Amino acid sequence: MTVSNAGDSGLVSLAEGLNGSPHDAAFAARMAVSVLIVDDQAGLRESLRTLLVEHGYRVELAVGGRAALARLERAPAPDLMLLDLVMPDMSGLEVIRALAGRSLETRIVVLSGDPSFDHVKQALTQGAVDFLRKPFEPEELCSTLARVCQALELERRARSAERRLAQSERLHRFMVDNAPDMVYLLNPQGCFSFINDRAAALLGWPREALLGRHYSVVVAEQDLDLARFVMNERRTGDRASRDVELRLRSRLVGRGDQAHGELVVEVTATGIYGPGEGGRQGSFLGTYGIMRDVTERKRAQEMVRYQAYHDLLTHLPNRALFRDRLDLAITQARRNDCRLAVMFLDLDRFKVVNDTLGHTVGDRLLKQVADRLRNCLRAGDTLARFGGDEFCLLLPDLRSHDDAAGVAQKVLDRLSAPFQVDDHELFVGASIGISLFPDAGESVEALIQSSDIAMYATKGRGKNGYHFFAPEMNEKFSSLLVLERELRNALANDQLEPFFQPQIDLDTGSIIGVEALARWRHPERGLVEPLDFIPMAEETGLIVQLDRCIQRKACRAVAAWRRQGHGDLTLSLNVSACQMEQPEFVDGLLALLEETGLEPEGVKLEITESAIMREMELIVPKLRHLGARGVRIGIDDFGTGYSSLSYLQRFPIDTLKIDRAFVNDIRADGDDASIVNAIIHMARGLGLDIIAEGVENELQLRYLQEQGCHQVQGFIFSRPVDETTLQRCLTLGFDEIRRVAREVSTG
Ligand code: C2E
Ligand code: MG
Ligand code: MG
Repeated sequence: MTVSNAGDSGLVSLAEGLNGSPHDAAFAARMAVSVLIVDDQAGLRESLRTLLVEHGYRVELAVGGRAALARLERAPAPDLMLLDLVMPDMSGLEVIRALAGRSLETRIVVLSGDPSFDHVKQALTQGAVDFLRKPFEPEELCSTLARVCQALELERRARSAERRLAQSERLHRFMVDNAPDMVYLLNPQGCFSFINDRAAALLGWPREALLGRHYSVVVAEQDLDLARFVMNERRTGDRASRDVELRLRSRLVGRGDQAHGELVVEVTATGIYGPGEGGRQGSFLGTYGIMRDVTERKRAQEMVRYQAYHDLLTHLPNRALFRDRLDLAITQARRNDCRLAVMFLDLDRFKVVNDTLGHTVGDRLLKQVADRLRNCLRAGDTLARFGGDEFCLLLPDLRSHDDAAGVAQKVLDRLSAPFQVDDHELFVGASIGISLFPDAGESVEALIQSSDIAMYATKGRGKNGYHFFAPEMNEKFSSLLVLERELRNALANDQLEPFFQPQIDLDTGSIIGVEALARWRHPERGLVEPLDFIPMAEETGLIVQLDRCIQRKACRAVAAWRRQGHGDLTLSLNVSACQMEQPEFVDGLLALLEETGLEPEGVKLEITESAIMREMELIVPKLRHLGARGVRIGIDDFGTGYSSLSYLQRFPIDTLKIDRAFVNDIRADGDDASIVNAIIHMARGLGLDIIAEGVENELQLRYLQEQGCHQVQGFIFSRPVDETTLQRCLTLGFDEIRRVAREVSTG
């Protein structure tokens, strides 16, 4: 819709013109009134023209009645017509009759030379608005024309005002009906006397059906009381209702006549009063109100609140809600002088399932676990999911230590039966740690932490069981914290460096590559091995920084060796899942190679099966990208994960590295080595390179060689050694390497 303010062009000028004198020449000029003079006498025509032009009129001439009619066929019609009644071709009256029925705006003033009044009367009844009797004085003519003009303009003004009013009414209606909010009026009895389209639409009522009905038909049962003071507001000004939340019933949502959908609205309403006398308020006329639909916003808020306190996968309370409940339970236990237990539970084999079978299976398993755990609860207990595969149980109002033990055992029993997820039969145990109030702590923090520590104790003692917290467990835990702090310092103070373990080609006896393995030169503890800090680094995320540090140093060293005549030497780098999941992993690594001057062809990434499986969709494209740049990819510790052949085919990999546990199984007597055998054949079938790690003796070496595995790495040739030692190794044969290695390991 377009709203136009433009009225008649004459309206504004008229308003001004009416203030001036009607005789004023400038008046007609301003109004630009056009006059058609119709007369058969040339002399009269000309003198009229001269006079009117002088007074500012726009003048046209017509020689007779026919010429006048012909002129009137064309737009724009003149404002006035001075029409002689007696003309030879067609009389003035005939002209008037010919125009009858045409809604012509032209006002007709007749000129009559006839002393009888008869013709004039006829002319006036048939459409002329005024007359002049010949002969007339110029002033007479002018004042007659001015009078007619004035009347004409008044009429025009009235019409235009009417049009503008209708338009303004339409505009306001449009604004009210299309307002995003519901607008209503109630009469003094509380019945709707107006609702806008929006209200009708949201409430699901046809407008006519709701008009005249009491507002309570749209208010939800529970809010009827409140509605009396809000919807039917009688107060005005600051005391009136503003943004009061109210629930309404809509007929729109829901099925059947009885089912109503609920709307939540914010009502702002004010009483309407008639004009009062003597400063007093007039009579109450009703209520004017606006209701804003906030249903979606409310729902979103509730959702956010729910999310803030629940785990969306299992719909169990989350850590925040658990803490609230525990806080309350502690207060009660203290008041009633009783005990309570917090039970921390971590699934034992969940990570393996998640890593190898994927998140979807992992999620389904978690839901089933949550269901079984729920079944172990009594009324009043709280079960929460803390994230991942961690759950926490609050048992308030505990009679004895044995009660908690009983629940823990029940949980373990319930979880010991296999879970059926899709086609998989899965077994998950659980490690449980229990802390009792007040023995293990008196605060929310302390109780949760103690149960967590006790859970770790269970993990450390073979898993699938439970332990109560004991103070001595603290030391071990805090030593972990100390370790983390120390490792942070170590990274800051450059105490980490790569050691290098050579990889030998059995056909040529030469070193074809080295694997970089992290070592920590601890100022007090000496050289610390990865197993003592890598798991913790992975858990805390420090691994990303650590990997980059080792990788940078290793790349620099190998780039130098390649420049010094060992052009084919490759560098194997261990890459953690965390590092690969970093968004800048690919660019970061390529930049590192650029910076250290090592060609991508010189690098092999060693990735464990579980790392690749953890975020397969995320990681595989990154590996492809690196592969395309020449970086080679190998699977480390192959055989310990759950990779099936079909998985392997989807990965962009070049090498399988047989885990040292299988190499270790190679013995003179048994055929335990069949796994090694199988892996070698599989690799060959897939066209992959194969390397064995952890080769310690001649027997293993010979067996591997016989089976067709020609690349090996292990103590039999060399332990991992520092950069300087490896530098020496590179220039010697591999008998020498053994000697050097022995020297290094004994020295
Ligand atoms: P890995 O990648 O499988 O490395 C091979 C491990 O086997 C090394 O242990 C190596 O010293 C050891 N090894 C080599 N030959 C023999 C042998 O003949 N017999 C026996 N028994 N062991 C042998 P290390 O250096 O203690 O590293 C342990 C693990 O820590 C590595 O296993 C790797 O997974 C991880 N790791 C080491 N350095 C880094 C690193 O910089 N970043 C990451 N993310 N992980 C690292
Ligand atoms: Mg490795
Ligand atoms: Mg390995």
